[in-house]
Order: sequence, then structure tokens, then C-alpha cells
Amino acid sequence: MMLNVARRTVTSVLLLLLGLTASAQTPAPPTQADVLRGEYGRYRANNDLLFYHLDVRVDPVQKSISGRNTIRFRMLRDDARIQLDLHANMTVDRILLGATPLKYTRELNTVWVDFPETLRSGRTYSIDFHYSGNPKEQGRFGGMSFEKDPAGRDWIFTACEDDGASIWWPNKDQWRDEVERMNISVAVPNGLMDVSNGRLTGKTDLGDGYTRWDWAVDSPINNYNVALNIGRYEHFGERLGDLTLDYYVLPENLDKARTQFAQTGPMIEAFEKYVGEYPFRKDGFKLIEVPYAGMEHQSAVAYGNRFANGYLERDWTGVGISTKFDFIIIHESGHEWFGNSISAADVSDMWIHEGWTTYLEAVYVEHRYGQADAIRYINGVKSKAQNKQPIITQRGIHRQPDQDMYFKAALFLNTLRSVVDDDAKWWAAVRAFYQKFKHQNIMTEDVVAFFNAQLGRDLTPLFDQYLRRADLPVLELSFRPDGMMAYRWRADERAFAMPVRIGSGGNWTVIQPTTAWQTTASPLRKDTVQVATDRYYVNVATY
Ligand SMILES: [Zn+2]
Repeated sequence: MMLNVARRTVTSVLLLLLGLTASAQTPAPPTQADVLRGEYGRYRANNDLLFYHLDVRVDPVQKSISGRNTIRFRMLRDDARIQLDLHANMTVDRILLGATPLKYTRELNTVWVDFPETLRSGRTYSIDFHYSGNPKEQGRFGGMSFEKDPAGRDWIFTACEDDGASIWWPNKDQWRDEVERMNISVAVPNGLMDVSNGRLTGKTDLGDGYTRWDWAVDSPINNYNVALNIGRYEHFGERLGDLTLDYYVLPENLDKARTQFAQTGPMIEAFEKYVGEYPFRKDGFKLIEVPYAGMEHQSAVAYGNRFANGYLERDWTGVGISTKFDFIIIHESGHEWFGNSISAADVSDMWIHEGWTTYLEAVYVEHRYGQADAIRYINGVKSKAQNKQPIITQRGIHRQPDQDMYFKAALFLNTLRSVVDDDAKWWAAVRAFYQKFKHQNIMTEDVVAFFNAQLGRDLTPLFDQYLRRADLPVLELSFRPDGMMAYRWRADERAFAMPVRIGSGGNWTVIQPTTAWQTTASPLRKDTVQVATDRYYVNVATY
């Protein structure tokens, strides 16, 4: 997902006008809705998702959706109830186990499904959840939106990362558990096409003015990545080795797309070189034109960046580099590696999606334009970092972290690379990290444990300071008349210890400050000392 900075800025201004201070922004206590949405409770943890077949009909006139989701799962414990989710404004028509209607209870956006007999641990079950309704158009990108394209044809799309997929279809709406694979069948009026995730396996004229488009996803997929894109699309494609690249755009934009989407191949080559192979080779890669900026829908990336470089034609990081490439192609596709392949198990750890993907933007710049530009690019995001709240939010209540999960987290990864101070070792660690966790749902603890083991050092206080504390570490340098320099980190984490590069006139030396004062003889002086803050995201205080 890409951040809507404009809206956040308005919020910040409002908070200022209201005279609210940082301490007054303490998050509100979780509501019952937060807990139902975010907690991986007994009735979610008692089963493991295997497969969905979402089979729906979309009516542009009624702005409605109806159909069913077949949900196959394996029980992990004996139990007689599971938790599913469908927003309260949608209708549950019936839930069937074979031919047997199941009882269910609705609570806010949750549907508690009860079985007449205990389901047995280790056994696989399949239920058909029939539903219908008019999905709400809400959230940053619309949830499910019924719009018209510029030529007046129907253009219908879903984008529901923030509100949850249960805004438009019934599922186990959480992040920890994913189906192993999924089929998506979407009936739309003749003349329109649905483009969803995975591969097109067929289309069927239903004889009633509708055509059904069948898609198959052959990889684990999280709910919010499942997407409908319904419009009057034209298709073109290419190949990158054995990987298919398919593009779907409005007819009027074919020529512009053919030019702009030439950036896809180099993007994939860059991320394959530095991180690992494209994770959804079996499902292919697609870009699909939409009327909003973009979204990382797995193997079906939504694209709305006006076929122009930059981000909505702006210089995103303000240092003249964003304008060299199409920000949405790079950022949203980067999520195929971090977000879609390696996924956070809880939204509180969403920096694993957004921090890594923002870092991948700089990786792409390094691949195309060299490391000097990459350093300038990543330092450009400093203006967007706030350091007001910890990046990691409370687990289990589905509360999205604030925008530091993008920018501060990416700057932290750049810092970590400087701590490693050995590019061969750094890229080997990134590649090993990706290989170990691809197609898995993980938590920050997994990331920290991996890098500690891989790099053979205890980096936990660094991760904790940058991700679990609001304030940046401050490098304190105190210069004495006798030529001695005292130095330490001022940080919330008592065990915080991080090497850092200081010097003057281009002569650098690495010191190893901890949170305790150390002294050394130094030729450096208060007025001329430099700290490599382009490599280490820290504050500096000199005395
Ligand atoms: Zn993103």
C-alpha cells in the first residue's frame, strides 16, 4: 500500500489546532470491534485455512455482489465453533456443511459459525458461505467501489487492506493464517472483464447477459490481497525468462502503458538480484489499471500512477531521483517480496511490509543508478519520518502503525546495513532472510532472531530502540580542551550499543559507543566534527 500523506498531514494540522501534544495522542483503548478483528482467539486458532473458492456475481446497476465462498480448513483442535467475518451491512444468506445448514451468530463484523457436532482435530472440513449485499465504499482506497471510467464504462474494483476483506466477502479476516491456494470466479455483465489474482483459467458465457471469469491462485495469499478489477480492459503481455508479465489497461491507455510498463522487467531483475526470485512465478505477474494510486494485490498489482514517473507526477522524496522511475510500479511490486511473500502475522508488525518495501525503493535506485543516488534517495524520506510513536503497535487489536513504519523503518534498515559495514555480508543476510521466511507469516521477533543469528551479534537493543521506542538514539560527543573526546548514546534501551562513523574532512573513523560514557584522545573538534548521518539514522548532540 502507498501512504496517503495528504490526509495524514491534515490530521496532524488538526491535532495542532486542537492543542494536542504527543502525550495526548496516546492510542484509545481497544474496542470490542478491535478485539474481534485483531485477536487470534480460540475460534480462529482452532483451525488452519487450506482453500477458498470465492464464486460471486457483481451487478454494476444494483452496486451489489452475491454468491458464496467455499472455505476449506483443517481443525487443529476438537471444537464446534469457528470465527469468520463479514461486515455487518452484508447479508448472510446461508452457511452449509454439505447439505446441512449451520447455525451462526453475528456480532459486529464477526460471524460465529456453530457446528451440530464437534469437529475433530486433524480432519479437513469444507463449508459454503452464501452471502449478498451492497458493500460499503469506504477506507482510503474505497473497499469495494463501483465507478465509471473516463469513457463512462463501468469500472469496479476492490482495495481493502485497511478495512479488511470482509468488507466485501466472507472469510477468516486476519493476517496470521492464509489459504494455501484459491480460486476466484467472478460473473460480470458481458463486455466487461474481471481481472483477479493468479492465472486466468477460463471464461464462460452464462447465457443470461453475464460472463464468468475464473482465476486460480497457486500460492498462499492473504485476504486483503484478493482483488476484483472489473472494467473494459485491453490486454498485452511479455515474458521475462519463464515469467509471464501481463498488463490490463483501458483501451485508450494502451500506448502509454506499453511505454511505461517497460519498467517492469528491470524492477523484477533488481529485486531478484538483491533479494530473491520473484515469489509467484506459477501465478505470473500482472499490472492492472485502476483509478486510485495503487495497491500490492498479489500477482495482480493495481496500478493508477497516470503512466508517469514519480508518485502521481510528484518528486516523492524531493531529491530529484523519484522522477526517474514510476514509483507505483516499484513500490507496489516490491510488496510481492515483502508483504505478499513474507507477510506480517499481525498488523502491529506491518513495518515488515512497508519498511522493507520502502527500503526496496532504494535498492532499485542502487541497481539502476548507483549507491550514491540510493543514499540520497533514502535520506530523502527523512522529511516524512516523525519519531512520535513507536513503529510497532499493540498486538492483537488490528491497529495500523503510523507512517513511521514506512520511512523510519526503511532508514533503520539503511542504518543496519551500515552497522554490518560489509555489503557482501549485508546482501547475503538479506537474501538468506528472504529465503528463510518466503511464503510465511512472521513477527518482528522472527526478524530480530534471524539477524542476530545470521550476523552473530545481539542486535535486539537496536531493533527495540528503532521499532519499539519513539525517539531516535542521540550520539553525544563532548570535546574537552585537553584533546579528549567523551562519547555515548542517549537511548531508551539501556543496552543500546551501535558503532557509528564520525570524522572530519572526509576522514572517517568508526567508534563503538554504548550508553555509558567512554573517552578517547581525538583530533576532532566540536565545530568541525561530522557524523555519517546519511548512513546512520541518529540525532547528534555536541558539547
Ligand atoms: Zn506499501
